[in-house]
Amino acid sequence: MSKESDVKSGGSCKGDEVPLMPKCFVCGAGDKNRVYLHCIHEGEEKLVCARCLPILIHGAH
Ligand SMILES: [Zn+2]
Repeated sequence: MSKESDVKSGGSCKGDEVPLMPKCFVCGAGDKNRVYLHCIHEGEEKLVCARCLPILIHGAH
């Protein structure tokens, strides 16, 4: 009895809502090599890259 577990399709992961592809809500970058941080913006949990974080800190628009 040897059955291979098909992990190709069938992704029903509930609970964890972390997106596979990170995307900065400021610049929209989705670079995997970039560092992303969780933040709350307008009551919503979002990701911001490390490059845009200083912009948020200093309050530039
Ligand atoms: Zn960014």
